[in-house]
Amino acid sequence: MTTADPGARPVRVRLAPSPTGDPHVGMIRQAIWTWLYARHTDGKFILRIEDTDQTRSVEGTVDRILDSLRWLGIDWDEGPDVGGDYGPYVQSERKALYQEAANRLLASGHAYRCFATAEELREMREAQQAKKLPPRYDGRFRDYPVDQAEARAAAGESHVIRFKMPQEGTTTVTDLLRGEVSFENKELDDFVILKSDGFPTYHLAHVVDDTAMEISHVTRGEEWLPSAPRHVQIFNALGYEQPVWVHSPVILGPDGGKLSKRHGAKFVLEYADDGYLPDALFNFLTITGWALDDHTEVFSRERLIEVFDLADLSKNPSGFDQTKLEWMNGVYLREMPEEELVDIFRQRLERDLPADIARPLDEALIESFTPLVRERLKLLAELGPLVEFFFRDTVPTPPNEDFLVKKWKERAADASAALGTVVKFLEPVDPWATEGIETAMRAAADELEVRAGDLFALVRLAITGTRISPPLFESMEVVGKGLSTERIEAAAAQLGAS
Ligand code: GLU
Repeated sequence: MTTADPGARPVRVRLAPSPTGDPHVGMIRQAIWTWLYARHTDGKFILRIEDTDQTRSVEGTVDRILDSLRWLGIDWDEGPDVGGDYGPYVQSERKALYQEAANRLLASGHAYRCFATAEELREMREAQQAKKLPPRYDGRFRDYPVDQAEARAAAGESHVIRFKMPQEGTTTVTDLLRGEVSFENKELDDFVILKSDGFPTYHLAHVVDDTAMEISHVTRGEEWLPSAPRHVQIFNALGYEQPVWVHSPVILGPDGGKLSKRHGAKFVLEYADDGYLPDALFNFLTITGWALDDHTEVFSRERLIEVFDLADLSKNPSGFDQTKLEWMNGVYLREMPEEELVDIFRQRLERDLPADIARPLDEALIESFTPLVRERLKLLAELGPLVEFFFRDTVPTPPNEDFLVKKWKERAADASAALGTVVKFLEPVDPWATEGIETAMRAAADELEVRAGDLFALVRLAITGTRISPPLFESMEVVGKGLSTERIEAAAAQLGAS
């Protein structure tokens, strides 16, 4: 594949989220790709908050965007909290710049004031709909005398400023992934660049800021491609150099529709809560729509920084593969150095285990079961229920019907006797270690003439209280001889009493 030639301009790329809701996977994937490209090229990654649509801003989302990025290990060289030479990095604090650009466009004849009221515009749209025409601004103030417009504005009359789109010819957007994409100018109406409240629209604000911040590549979702000819026109009208355009394809649900919650897509901080590892989500999102070759899926972050290139992004939408994400998380859990994993487990368990288990948790205990459970987990959220029995002196013996299945169906007395035999065989085991425990348990099964698996199922329930647990003999070693024996005896007594 060709590379995204950084060209003459130093690489400065940005993530420009609007604080209209919690960050979803599409936005975060854009952040990851853009960040990787900045790190790959030794460029700068800039965070800019686009809050000019005050009606859509949602309280608290800026913090959640920042927290989500931090959780994923994405840092920014310039941004609202860290500052930088091109600040401020919040659009609502840059109003004067947009007003100045709008004034320049007015002065050069590329823009005009429009005094049409909301009511008037609604009637215009209704009339268009009645004629089955697409709704669009009809240019009613395009040729309005400038001196009259200025007088009305000076008198304080509410109005917007619109960009005067050429009515003929085409506008071509040169996109890194798609090549030259041309749009008929006559299809595009005179759009608003400055609203009546003095705030710019995205169209103007993005051009002004990406220029002022010397952004070399505008990386954004393909939903912006239809607006891109407008942006190209504003760049040209202001005499600004265009950035490299990179409109990346969307993520779809597995059914080919828009990705949504029902496909398992979540907000980033929900993934954190569910127990995904940030590196796994990072890796997964990177490869959802980007590939190095036709087989490599697991990449360290260092490797991604080395090989990632915007030019290799897919041109087609990619499907969100929840199963792959879970698999990937399991891979990261298994490959993580043990010490790190113990620490992650400890933090997770401090949060997840029931409050009656004393804190701080026993670190040595966590170290002892970490190798037993790491192979079995896909999500950290599964950890608590899987290991709770290690932290308890007594686990309630499950009801008889949990024991009396398969081989033991309706044979409570046999099950009780079998557990009694196990206790007898375990008694001489010394040292209390996995190997000796296993030998004793197999000998007990031989003596009882039952399949080892059938016997172990009883013991597993007695020891862990559940049917699914970490490996049995290793777990018994961690639980210890005294408690293991007590739990088996308790189960034998309960089954014998029935
Ligand atoms: N503020 C826009 C959004 O959140 C960003 C588009 C862009 O990256 O330019 O959709």
